[in-house]
Amino acid sequence: MDRKPLLIVLGGGESGVGAALLGKAKGMEVFLSDRSPLQEKYRRILQQEDIPFEEGQHTEERILAATEVVKSPGIPPTVPIVQKIRAKGIPVISEIELAARYTTAKLIGITGSNGKTTTTLLIYHLLKSAGLNVGLAGNIGDSFARQVMEDTFDYFVLELSSFQLDDMYQFRADVAVLLNITPDHLDRYEYQFQNYVNSKFRIVQNMRPEDVFIYYQENPAIAEELPRRELAVQALPISLESAPRPGGFLRNGELVASAARTELRVQTADLPLQGKHNALNMLAAMLAAQAVGLSEEAIRTGLQTFRNAPHRLEPAGEINGIRFINDSKATNVDSVYFALESMTTPVIWVAGGQDKGNDYAQLDSLVGSKVKALVCLGKDNSKLINYFTGKVPVLVETQEVDEVVAKGLELGEPGDAVLLSPACASFDLFRNYEDRGEQFKAAVRRQAEKVRTQPKQ
Ligand code: ADP
Repeated sequence: MDRKPLLIVLGGGESGVGAALLGKAKGMEVFLSDRSPLQEKYRRILQQEDIPFEEGQHTEERILAATEVVKSPGIPPTVPIVQKIRAKGIPVISEIELAARYTTAKLIGITGSNGKTTTTLLIYHLLKSAGLNVGLAGNIGDSFARQVMEDTFDYFVLELSSFQLDDMYQFRADVAVLLNITPDHLDRYEYQFQNYVNSKFRIVQNMRPEDVFIYYQENPAIAEELPRRELAVQALPISLESAPRPGGFLRNGELVASAARTELRVQTADLPLQGKHNALNMLAAMLAAQAVGLSEEAIRTGLQTFRNAPHRLEPAGEINGIRFINDSKATNVDSVYFALESMTTPVIWVAGGQDKGNDYAQLDSLVGSKVKALVCLGKDNSKLINYFTGKVPVLVETQEVDEVVAKGLELGEPGDAVLLSPACASFDLFRNYEDRGEQFKAAVRRQAEKVRTQPKQ
């Protein structure tokens, strides 16, 4: 009798456990290996499903017997075990690649350095509120693999990170969205920006002429790369500068999208998502929705009823007429650029954390015109201080969120905004960007309560 194929899963988080379950359901022999301890909920699932696994180590002999390896996106390709797997010629794929083999649903994939989550959630919301039978997966929520086991959806909206795309080969998107490519994660790409660009462009591989590719045409990296590739797809550019048709653009406060013959126009003024970056995200979502046949009415309603995930330009409260805004997810310079760009009042800007090789020059003119004070919130603020001294009227530093809020109130006037948009990773003072955002919001609530209960003079 032939032996069953052996699927080795490296990494026992959400995607790895999902891949293991799917592999087993499809009749493969499965072994999961994680060099760190597993979370209890995942350990329990594997035990219940009788899937063999190890934690705290990689047993080479067992792993190198694999027919195929699913690698978690968090594991760098440079670690010794992955190098050995590759040296033996064993294929390494991502959980997305595995799961896509087992679904007949139409796939809408979204990638970019910034805006993935917002755009993915928005497309999902548009399709779902229009009544389509749609799932949400990828770099967000429940694993794609686990959801594919039942394969009951007609559509999947997939957030795709470059780490996932790196190990994708046969995957084909029916609709692909490429929002932007700006320097990020370069440590995983041998500090070669082109490697990162190539990774992002994997989203279009295998696409056919009837498939739809939506991209931001003014992003320099995308504009440079596109002519090097011959893409036989329906290309739908989005633009802030010209008016591509078919395509999407912003003109006089109106979003205009035409994926097919019909043109949809939506006023941005009352929409929950604001700012030019969100105009781009909304245009991409409108085109994707048109491409799968949603009605004008459904798209319009969906845009109005959307609520974004927290920590992305999220209103965090108002004290003495000063608005507090939590943009903790802005962990690179480009996302801060768009955050500042979207501000219509003077800003007390809160930034800092773990530097990722940031170049702040891109922010000069926005900082010059909008920022009245910079509050540095990091363990080591020297880079921010060196760069912005003399460029902002006031510069202070702290390591306490309560002090950030107090400084905001001290330096601000009614009508101003205190914007936490750090441009840096959070790991120096916080567990992650969510923790940083939550702590900031809690500090605003504490301060608001104090102000409310203070006896009037
Ligand atoms: P991702 O999932 O790619 O990290 P998010 O939607 O979580 O993207 O947004 C991350 C940060 O980038 C937020 O601060 C957000 O305000 C900002 N942002 C969102 N969309 C864009 C865009 N299209 N271009 C630049 N920055 C964006």
